[in-house]
Amino acid sequence: MKHGKLRLSGVGELRIRGKARRVDAPKTCEILHRRGTWYASVTVEREPKRLHGERIGGLDWGVETFATLATPEGVERIENPRHLQRSLERIGAVQKRICRKEEEAKKASGKMKGFPLSNRLRKEYALLGRLHEKVTNQRQDFLHQTSAWLVATFAVLGLEQLNIRGMTALGGAYKRGLNRGIFDAAAGMFHQMLRYKAQEAGGWAMEADSRKLKPSQRCQLCGRLEKKPLSQRWHDCPCGASCSGDENAAKLLLSWVMKQIGGREPAKALREVRPASLPGNPALP
Ligand SMILES: [Zn+2]
Repeated sequence: MKHGKLRLSGVGELRIRGKARRVDAPKTCEILHRRGTWYASVTVEREPKRLHGERIGGLDWGVETFATLATPEGVERIENPRHLQRSLERIGAVQKRICRKEEEAKKASGKMKGFPLSNRLRKEYALLGRLHEKVTNQRQDFLHQTSAWLVATFAVLGLEQLNIRGMTALGGAYKRGLNRGIFDAAAGMFHQMLRYKAQEAGGWAMEADSRKLKPSQRCQLCGRLEKKPLSQRWHDCPCGASCSGDENAAKLLLSWVMKQIGGREPAKALREVRPASLPGNPALP
């Protein structure tokens, strides 16, 4: 199914680019047209169903490091993929060029709005559109793969409930306004994917109330609360705890989620803990 052919009744045989994630019996096919490119979206019927893993973990979501995972075995990091970062940098460069050319056009015409667009400027707009499209696809792919891997590895995963205020607290590149829209959309999409994939597998992706837990302020070791400026990425506490802020938040989410299942083995908790006895959580099956 790599770079194969698609036969559509009434249209004929078309060459297509891309590769199917899985080869199964096709059920439906949707044809989409976006920014001058045609897409075929094929749904397949598949078996077996998704399976969940055995581990337990706390996940903190960030900008510079995509995610920090705390498990009883230690801390792991999931980095943003290089190709996605490169595309984001290219978007930044094109946006800068567009700004400069727009300023020049405004000066030359003396109009703030409705200034004439040069061919070069038109080309830059088109390029920006194509780059955005590319980033959307690359990001979606990465989010699907990462959420699938997390669900296949973990039985129970604790993460921070998503809210806009929480996201501004992430600081760093986000605060500087770098591709803010892209970041917001990705956060929502990632949580949604984790939630439905965990549900498909019978695992749990549990979301902690950020306003109560305060992972950006609370020490994971002693529970002490301290307001930190957004620029402060390191967590130091009088109790002796010293680690990155991401690591602190991930460890805090791990102890939170362990408390939720009452210290049981994660896989055992899935069988024994009745969802109704857990705090109001949309992620529960
Ligand atoms: Zn402490």
